[in-house]
Amino acid sequence: MRRAIFPGSFDPLTLGHYDIIQRGVTLFDELIIAIGSNAEKKYMFDLERRMQFIKAAFELEPKIKVHTYEGLTVDFCKKMNAQFILRGLRNPADFEFEKAIAHTNRKLSEIETVFLLTSSGKSYISSSIVRDVIRHGGDYTGLVPDSVRIS
Ligand code: ADP
Repeated sequence: MRRAIFPGSFDPLTLGHYDIIQRGVTLFDELIIAIGSNAEKKYMFDLERRMQFIKAAFELEPKIKVHTYEGLTVDFCKKMNAQFILRGLRNPADFEFEKAIAHTNRKLSEIETVFLLTSSGKSYISSSIVRDVIRHGGDYTGLVPDSVRIS
């Protein structure tokens, strides 16, 4: 069973994440979307809300599971019996950042990181931009899946 973890904050899920997940799931038997929970980080959406957005977006996809985790991603991979980490790359800054993390994860474990390039037209989307638009009352709906409804 080829199982991958797609870790992230997903604060909130965006069309950029959605695209990587839809394309990534075709490579594996199971894809676990792992929502990181870090007590020191301030989130716009609490864990429950971030989880609901993702579950609702992928409720019809049996190969996709959603979990939350704390601590090192490689430890969570071992716990879930996952051999791969999936990550998305938007730009050179992502590459440099992800390269260091992937090398470190390889040092700590046997887990391979698989990268997918963002689809053209989605590379500018980030959760932080979405949060900014929401904060200032802008129309965020073209940047997120339909399940991300803020009331
Ligand atoms: P983190 O807090 O770990 O950066 P994010 O929720 O911001 O978590 O991102 C999770 C993953 O999704 C990362 O691999 C990130 O590069 C990827 N990602 C985010 N936005 C996009 C996008 N627009 N296109 C492709 N990948 C993306």
